[in-house]
Amino acid sequence: MEIKLLSQDKTQVRVVVKGTTPAEMNTYRRTVLTTLPAMAIDTVEFVENSSALYDEMLAHRLGLVVLKTDTESYFEKAKCKCKGAGCARCTLELTLEVEGPGIVYAEQLKSKDPAVIPVHGKTPLVKLLDNQKVKLIAHAILSTGQEHIKFSPGLLYYQGYPQIKVGAVKNPEAIAEMCPTNVFEADSKKLTVKNKEACILCMACVDASKGDVEVSGSATDFILTIEPWGQLTPGQMVDGCVDALHEQIDALSEEIKKLK
Ligand SMILES: [Zn+2]
Repeated sequence: MEIKLLSQDKTQVRVVVKGTTPAEMNTYRRTVLTTLPAMAIDTVEFVENSSALYDEMLAHRLGLVVLKTDTESYFEKAKCKCKGAGCARCTLELTLEVEGPGIVYAEQLKSKDPAVIPVHGKTPLVKLLDNQKVKLIAHAILSTGQEHIKFSPGLLYYQGYPQIKVGAVKNPEAIAEMCPTNVFEADSKKLTVKNKEACILCMACVDASKGDVEVSGSATDFILTIEPWGQLTPGQMVDGCVDALHEQIDALSEEIKKLK
C-alpha cells in the first residue's frame, strides 16, 4: 500500500492510498464511526432549570457538546475497575450554574479535569431571560459510536481515485466553468485537466460534454478524507483505528483457535 498526503488543515486531512480494495477502505470507515472511543456528556442532574427548554432538551443539547478527549486517562465504563459503577477513571463531572439574561455557551461548563473541556466554546446551549436560572451537574463518559453517534470522533470517507479522459470537446470553457471543484483549465479550443485530485466524481462534466469527457473512480486507488469533530486529532483517529482493528483480528483468531 502506498500513501501520499494531499492536504492537511485543522478540519480535514486528505491522503491518496494506492494499491488496496474498497473492502479495506470501508473497514477503516466503519471502525472510525463505531469503534473509536470519545468522550461526551451522558447523564445530567438538574438542580434548577427555569429556562424555556425542558430538562430533556437541554440534556440532549449537552450530550452533543464536543469534548476534548483524553483516551490515556479514561476508560470505557464496561472496561473500568469499578465495573460500571462510575469512578474518576471512567466518569468526569462538569457543572453549570448560570443566571439570565443572556445566551449560555458550552465554554461556561466547568470541568473537573482541565484536559477535558468543550472544543467549540461558543456552542450555544440555551437562551435565558431575566431571572431565569440553570444549575446542573453533567457526567461525561468515554464510549463508542456503536452506543450513540455522539461518541463518534468524526468521519473517515473515501472515493475512487479519479480517472479523467478528455476527448474532442466542443464547449471546453463551459465545461471548465461548470465543474464545482475547478478540475479543468480551458481556452476556446482545448480542455485540460489541471487538478485531478480535486475531482469529486460528480459527473457534471460528463453530462455537459455529452460523453466527450469520461470520468471514473479507480477500484484499487483511493482518496481518503479524515474529518475529526474535535475530540481526537486525525493522527489519534488513525492510530486508534489501527489498534481497534488489531484487537478485532486477535479476537477473531482466538475464536478460530477454539474451533480446532
Ligand atoms: Zn470507573
